[in-house]
Amino acid sequence: MFPDYRLRQREHLLQISRAMTARLDLPSLLKLILENAVEIVSGQAGLVVLRREDSTLYPRARYGLPVQAIHFFEPLWRDLPTTADRHAWQIPDLSLRLNLASAAAGLPLRQVVALPMVIKDEIIGLIYIFRSLGAAFTGNDRQLLGDFADQAAIAVQNAHLYQQVSDERARLNAIIENSGDGVMILGPDRSIRAWNRTLAGMTGVSAEEAIGRRCYQILGLHNRQGISVCETACPLVKPREDKRLYAEGDTLRADGVKVSLADNYSPLYDAEGNIVSVIANVRDVSRLREAEELKNTLLSVISHELKTPVSIIKGYAGTLVRQDANWDQETLTDGLSIIEEEADKLNELINNLLDASRLQAGGLKLQFAYLDLPSMAEKSIEKLRTQTNQHTFSTDFSPDFPPVKGDYERIREVLSNLINNAIKYSPGGGLIRVGGWVEGDEVRVFVSDEGIGIPTTVQEHIFDRFARVDNSLTRQMPGAGLGLFLVKAVIEAHGVRVSEESQPGQGATFTFTLPI
Ligand code: ADP
Repeated sequence: MFPDYRLRQREHLLQISRAMTARLDLPSLLKLILENAVEIVSGQAGLVVLRREDSTLYPRARYGLPVQAIHFFEPLWRDLPTTADRHAWQIPDLSLRLNLASAAAGLPLRQVVALPMVIKDEIIGLIYIFRSLGAAFTGNDRQLLGDFADQAAIAVQNAHLYQQVSDERARLNAIIENSGDGVMILGPDRSIRAWNRTLAGMTGVSAEEAIGRRCYQILGLHNRQGISVCETACPLVKPREDKRLYAEGDTLRADGVKVSLADNYSPLYDAEGNIVSVIANVRDVSRLREAEELKNTLLSVISHELKTPVSIIKGYAGTLVRQDANWDQETLTDGLSIIEEEADKLNELINNLLDASRLQAGGLKLQFAYLDLPSMAEKSIEKLRTQTNQHTFSTDFSPDFPPVKGDYERIREVLSNLINNAIKYSPGGGLIRVGGWVEGDEVRVFVSDEGIGIPTTVQEHIFDRFARVDNSLTRQMPGAGLGLFLVKAVIEAHGVRVSEESQPGQGATFTFTLPI
């Protein structure tokens, strides 16, 4: 009968051990440990104390004990022997300590057994089981509980480790998630495992959409030759020498905007040199790229647009200066006028470039005055009329057109830029109208022509720096694509707006407003 009972006890113990090792959540594991430990030896109450990192012990779980009684029990784990040999280990005066605690707490607990949970000779905690009446704990009870405590120690240690790993992972996730750079983690099959918030913002693709898919399906990073560089930059096996794994390319964001991204890969390899995972650091380099392109455009514009007038000037000057030729007055005058015209163009281009860079550097300083726009328009037309004999001009200002507040020199530039464009981009001639009317506390001014117009697809970019519509006419026409950029900047500096309306093939109308 007796051995049978023991056998059942052992079986029970085995079952609990299995249940314990499956539990990784510490509070529920400790509850399981205590309930079963109390049950195995028919106790009434129990306590588990655990060791903190600073090696002090603290009560972590209780069974059958009111919470307010716990502090009376503290002497039970004070000044404990340090030897970790479980078989020899005993708390001196344990019964006395219990009697004092029970009396102080007003509890009827009379018997106690304490078992250390030992891992690698170190006590990580203790299990206390109490009985209120009856016999003292036997050697068999101790034996049983001792085995149980060994199992419990392993389970507690596992739960601790699991907790540590979870905490570590949460910390790492928080770092990745809140990084100012885009971060993605790829698995060995190159599928996306992690995708942080910054990257979602950069690409317009959420983590839910990205995770599980391949980088090239989501990021589609293409270099200038149109080759997908998402994966090619990061080899599957460890390269012989340490080289920087870097890719730069363009991708289309979900909203259709093109962004340039730079990817820095940090692969982790296993002992055989195969990829385990790859951490990719992604930066938005659109602005850098833009600046680079701008610099290139600037250089090509300068070289192209400056070269033409300079070579014309040099050609005419070289011809006129020849000693052996005897030029008549008309030839001289024609030649010199061309030189003057080309010099004017050069001057205008240089001014535009200077203005554009001034704008970039710190805004435009305006000097406000009251302007008589109708007469300014007349003057601009007079000046430009000489350039063409194909166009007719008209001004059309409403009779109540008031003086407006603005910077004389800048507004004059705006008008002459717009009229100049109207002439340039209506090679077949036609009527160019300049006019305006009052609209609330603003005036609206327009310059219209009957020229080639502007294709709808490029209308929104027409005011960008160096923007030119690419067609056979603009290829022949000199121009740096700065005129409208400056027009917009000047008008916006006045706190108002400029806009453009155009029916391709039927001319263009530019309008801007100014405060009265
Ligand atoms: P630029 O004339 O030096 O090229 P702008 O900034 O003045 O530069 O104009 C930018 C582009 O807008 C021009 O290249 C041209 O393609 C287009 N454009 C400007 N004005 C007109 C217009 N009145 N009609 C048609 N196209 C125009």
